[in-house]
Amino acid sequence: SQSELDYPFKLLEYFNGFRISKVIFSACELGVFDLLLKSQEPLSARHVAQELSTSVDGMERLLDALVGIEILEVETTNGTAFYSSTDVANLYLAKGSGKSLHDMIIYQSQTIYPLWNNLADAVREGKNQNEKTSGVPAEDVFQAIYSSEEEMLKFMGLMNSSWVLDGHDIVTAFNLSGFQNIVDVGGCTGALAREMAKAYPSSSVTVFDLPQVVETAQKHFSQENDAVTFQAGDFFSDELPPADLYVLARIIHDWPDEKCLSLLKKIHDLCKPGCGVLLVEALLFENRRGPVMAQMFSLNMLVQTEGQERPPSQYTHILNKSGFCNVQDLERVRNLTYMVTRREKMKRSLW
Ligand code: SAM
Repeated sequence: SQSELDYPFKLLEYFNGFRISKVIFSACELGVFDLLLKSQEPLSARHVAQELSTSVDGMERLLDALVGIEILEVETTNGTAFYSSTDVANLYLAKGSGKSLHDMIIYQSQTIYPLWNNLADAVREGKNQNEKTSGVPAEDVFQAIYSSEEEMLKFMGLMNSSWVLDGHDIVTAFNLSGFQNIVDVGGCTGALAREMAKAYPSSSVTVFDLPQVVETAQKHFSQENDAVTFQAGDFFSDELPPADLYVLARIIHDWPDEKCLSLLKKIHDLCKPGCGVLLVEALLFENRRGPVMAQMFSLNMLVQTEGQERPPSQYTHILNKSGFCNVQDLERVRNLTYMVTRREKMKRSLW
C-alpha cells in the first residue's frame, strides 16, 4: 500500500520479530516469570538481578522491554521501578501453572531457533538441517531430534505443552464416544491421549511410540492413576495394537508421501468394519496462501523433518490411496489447527 511505501512499518515489525521472541525466551530461561510469580510483591531490577544472578543493567533493560510488550507491569516508587507479572505471564510463561507454555518456549529457543538460522540452506538444499545445526550425524529424523536424553526431554516437553491450549477442543471437535479402543499412534507423552481419556471415559486409550519415548514418558510425564496405557514399538516396522480408532496427531506432517502411504496402508489393513482414523494436522489453505502459521510450520518441517504441511486435498489423496474413503467434514479448531477424519468405506454410519 502507499503508506507502506512511504514508511515500511510492517517490514520493520517483521524484521524485529526475532528480537521480541528472544526477549520472551530469555526471560523464561532466566526464570524471570517464575520469580515474579513466587514473589508476593513487585520487585526492583536490582532484586531480580540478585535473585537470578544476572547483571543489574541487563536485567533492567530486559524487564523494561517486557513492560514495553505488555508482558510485565511496572510502577515507580521514590524513583525506583518495581516490576510485577501480568495474569497472562503467570498463567502461560511461569513454570508451575497447568497451562504453562514454558516447555514450548524452551524448545523454540534452544532447538528451533538455531535450526532456523540455517533456513536459507534448507531452502537451497531442500532438506533438513539437523546434522549441520547439532553437529550430530543421524540416519533418520527422530534419531536427530532425539540426539541426546536432554533433547528428547525438551522435544517431549514441547509436544506435551502444545495440547494445553487446544487438546480438549481437538478431541471433542468430533464425537468419538463410539470408539472403544483408541490408539494414539506416535502419541509421545500421552498429553492428547489423556484429553481423549477424559472426554471419553468409557474408551480405553493406548499411546504407541518408540521404546525410548515410552520409557521417558512413563518416567517424566506419567500421572497418578494414569488413564492411558503405553505400548512401545516402531510404527513403520512393528505391528500396531488393534483398535477401532487410530489417531495420528502431527505424524503425517513429519514424513514424505511414500512413508505416509505405507503407514496409512498398514493401518487400513488392520482396520475392521467401523474402524476409523483421525488425523490432526495444521492444514494449509487449498491454494497454499495461508494460514501464515501453517506456512511457517511447513518451513519448520523443512528445516527439521522429511515432511511438510499439506492442504486438505493432499490428505484426501493419501488417505484414498491407502484405502480410506468416506470423507468426514474437516473440523476447524481456532483459526489454525484443523482436523481431518476419515472412516473406512461402507462400515458404520458417519458420526
Ligand atoms: N502425536 C504427538 C503430538 O501431536 O503431540 C507427537 C507428535 S511428534 C511430531 C511425532 C511423534 O512420532 C513423536 O512422539 C515420535 O517419537 C513419534 N515417532 C516417530 N517415529 C516413530 C516410529 N517409527 N514409531 C513410533 N513412533 C514414532
